[in-house]
Amino acid sequence: MTTATAPQPLSAIKDFLASPQKLLIDGKRVDSASGDTFEVLDPSNNTVLTRVPKGEKADIDRAVKSARNAFKNGPWRKLTVSERGKLIWKLADLIEQRSEEFAQLETLDNGKPLTIARAADVPLTVDNFRYYAGMATKIHGETIDISVPYAPGAEFLDFTLREPMGVVGQIIPWNFPLLMATWKLGVALATGNCVVLKPAEQTPLSVLYLAGLFAEAGFPDGVVNIVTGFGDAGEALARHEEVDKVAFTGSTEVGHEIIKYSAANLKRVSLELGGKSPSIVFADADLDVAAQGVAGAIFFNQGQCCCAGSRLLVHESIYEDLIGRVSALADNIKIGPGMCPDTDMGPMVSREQQERVLTYIRSGEQQGATTRTSGKPLSREMESGCYVAPTVFENVKPDMKIVAEEIFGPVVVAAPFEDLDSVIARGNDTIYGLAASVWTQDINKAHKVAKGLKAGTVWVNCHNIFDAAAPFGGYKQSGFGREMGIHALENYTQVKNVIIQLH
Ligand code: NAP
Ligand code: MG
Repeated sequence: MTTATAPQPLSAIKDFLASPQKLLIDGKRVDSASGDTFEVLDPSNNTVLTRVPKGEKADIDRAVKSARNAFKNGPWRKLTVSERGKLIWKLADLIEQRSEEFAQLETLDNGKPLTIARAADVPLTVDNFRYYAGMATKIHGETIDISVPYAPGAEFLDFTLREPMGVVGQIIPWNFPLLMATWKLGVALATGNCVVLKPAEQTPLSVLYLAGLFAEAGFPDGVVNIVTGFGDAGEALARHEEVDKVAFTGSTEVGHEIIKYSAANLKRVSLELGGKSPSIVFADADLDVAAQGVAGAIFFNQGQCCCAGSRLLVHESIYEDLIGRVSALADNIKIGPGMCPDTDMGPMVSREQQERVLTYIRSGEQQGATTRTSGKPLSREMESGCYVAPTVFENVKPDMKIVAEEIFGPVVVAAPFEDLDSVIARGNDTIYGLAASVWTQDINKAHKVAKGLKAGTVWVNCHNIFDAAAPFGGYKQSGFGREMGIHALENYTQVKNVIIQLH
């Protein structure tokens, strides 16, 4: 277990944290209308990193007005698609130039290992903006041959236009703060929308750092507005009548509320919610690869991934062997501050999340599940951080809370299965349908399971593989609408059909 003192952040980050944090509204850095602020904590030791404005309904109103004005009257809509793409590309360049700064901020604020923030969060962010920079010039409608049976002899030209939604509200969670903002911003900007974005209260810093780059990239004022705050600010955004579309990533519980809020003006909604994704290991899998893979599937990002492989289903003939390997891997994970170079797993994002995960672990024990992992009592020095030891549960039953509910921590429930049909049924035995992974060397099994699972993403012999071009989103109560790829264009555009009668 790592207990070394964490290295100091870059001086640019120290300066940023020492300077007053501001909202971004209409191109200006401003305080919240109330002047209130709240603390942002480093979850590795619960010290205060800085304070940020507590944006509320009045601030959401200002931000939405600014976005509406930018959409209606500003230069944004007059830019060519090529110019729009160039601005997004420039933004990607500016982020890339500050890669280390973004990585350190993400680690300080969220707790994740700096090695991960450097390798995954920031490069994926840059790549996503570049992907949608290129997409800006490739959005188009179609021409359609129509017959119109009640107008014999008449001639028509029918074509479609793909138009932006207008003002888009985006509400994001704390597990990948910069990347989740990026998944929503890149496509919204490529399609010509104006945005009001609310980061999670636990992790507003990387998005506030990003807020400082839009003007430098050349975006007109009001195209992107950032309001930090709590759930009430998210609610005000999702309810706002001048918002045409809301995109939400977070809990399934709040996802249900977002739909209710949207009813007032029937705004469009896309939701990326929770999951209880199965990792399914067949007897013919390469067990070294599979053990590493399924351990990574749950323990990556401290288990705080909506697509975490939190249910491990293993063929009965290799069950003992595989669970032994996964438990050993879990026990060898180095836990510590994300800023320490040898840390594999950082703290949970907050005390609240740590307590939530520990409550699930206690409930699993009370309901009769057993653990094969050591449970690693954490050292005294680590008590100031929000740490949870990786945990593998066995002897689980479908009605246990740890089996049915999303834990969002480094906790996996393992069970043996007998055959292909029963494991597909088990895999689907959840209200969620976000992702799954299948581990086998048999192409037939891989295809059959991929087809049989009700999940938005199925990985074969891998897990947690993402790319800007690959669509991601949920079946069932994991939400609807796809982020990334060309599929995300559906969330941010509407189709206008134009019919011209040729005389
Ligand atoms: P959450 O409450 O759903 O929060 C997600 C975002 O929605 C945050 O920006 C949050 O603001 C905002 N929000 C909260 N209440 C709202 C409301 N009534 N109306 C509009 N916006 C609202 O998720 P959480 O509390 O961070 O985490 C709870 C659980 O959500 C996790 O344990 C996990 O199960 C799930 N989760 C899923 C994902 C995912 O990627 N699918 C990510 C994170 C969490 P505040 O930050 O101010 O609350
Ligand atoms: Mg924090």
